[in-house]
Amino acid sequence: MMKKVVKFGGSSLASARQFKKVGEIIRSDKSRRYVVPSAPGKRNDKDEKVTDLLYQCYDAASEGRSYKKILEKIKTRYDEIIDGLDLNLNLDYEFNQIEENFLKKAGRDYAASRGEYLNGMIMAAYLGYEFVDAAQVVFFDDNGNFDAETTNRELGERLEHIERAVIPGFYGAKQDGTITTFSRGGSDVTGSIVARAIHADMYENWTDVSGFLVADPRIVKNPQVIETITYKELRELAYMGASVLHEDAIFPVRKEGIPINIRNTNRPEDKGTLIVESTCRKPRYTITGIAGKKGFCSINIEKAMMNTEVGFGRKVLEVFERYGISFEHMPSGIDTMTVLVHQSEFEEYEQSVIAGIHRAVEPDFVEMESDLALIAVVGRGMKASRGTAGRIFSALAHARVNVKMIDQGSSELNIIIGVKNADFEAAIRAIYDIFVTTEME
Ligand code: ASP
Repeated sequence: MMKKVVKFGGSSLASARQFKKVGEIIRSDKSRRYVVPSAPGKRNDKDEKVTDLLYQCYDAASEGRSYKKILEKIKTRYDEIIDGLDLNLNLDYEFNQIEENFLKKAGRDYAASRGEYLNGMIMAAYLGYEFVDAAQVVFFDDNGNFDAETTNRELGERLEHIERAVIPGFYGAKQDGTITTFSRGGSDVTGSIVARAIHADMYENWTDVSGFLVADPRIVKNPQVIETITYKELRELAYMGASVLHEDAIFPVRKEGIPINIRNTNRPEDKGTLIVESTCRKPRYTITGIAGKKGFCSINIEKAMMNTEVGFGRKVLEVFERYGISFEHMPSGIDTMTVLVHQSEFEEYEQSVIAGIHRAVEPDFVEMESDLALIAVVGRGMKASRGTAGRIFSALAHARVNVKMIDQGSSELNIIIGVKNADFEAAIRAIYDIFVTTEME
């Protein structure tokens, strides 16, 4: 029988109504055997996530401020779910325990983890699946780093004998039992770890969108959903700000070649996005996705005969390194070299860096330009098709966008374009239209 791990995000589990949708999804496919829940998320825009309430409550309790009201609010959220599902479950004992541990200062990670712990108990009761506390099967080392190999072994052994289980997301424990969490959104990571440990055929990640979109919906109206994307393409887009999945969630499944399917709990009929190691499937459009970020600045260094000076680039980059500034891109010409950095990281040290460059390489000019945006046009299909760059630039010219910088990685997986912040949205729309809107017709 196929084995699927299904992870449900906070908005999919925010209320009894949402739980019922999740129950239907799980029951409709017998291979959905291992369930990883998040804590209850927001029910509407003004609502609060249970995880945030837990942090607030713990901070108050451990600093001697009044906390009982927040704790009561959290308990009510769970009780409403339990009542709405008609479950015979009482969390009084758990909440007494939690309160006691808060007062004993069990730690912020412990506090936050209770959100998924309790939701996992409810989920297990609702589905009739076995509850497996993540603290017993997901391990962190003494420094709080995730211990992938121990976890993989222990979790695999434990689940081998359980046909259907609920494993709460987001946390695990150190060897001494101290509860530790991943960073925010970390239930995605737990799902991936479970998928690896049981050699799942598929890791389904259920959320409130129907997959990855070709472009940001705040910029492009009703963008298309990406049907299939490779891990590498995803990394490129995620790095440029497209976020649906926790960044670290890719690694465990990637090791095993397990695909991830992003699905929408509110529209289970949609196929979502499939994330794979590699694929022969032709992408629907030449490009897979577009993403970008504002807030960069460029430092352009000019010096006649720079090309003959061995070590020029290193000396320049050393100056940035000294101030802890990482660079994003570094296009160069014969007598010029440009370094692109995050404006927010750079601003504070701007004058020291410029002085440092003068001292290090005695340039003819150093020029800076701020308020730049970078746009990544990503797609495995670009390699096989000619004229992609040409189409991008003619589209931008038509939209009257001035291109400040171009950088194509040698993998031919992406083209990075630098434009003024003010042109950012227009540029993304122009690129989307030329590839997606016109190729759709
Ligand atoms: N509940 C945690 C958070 O809000 C983890 C998760 O939902 O994945 O960050």
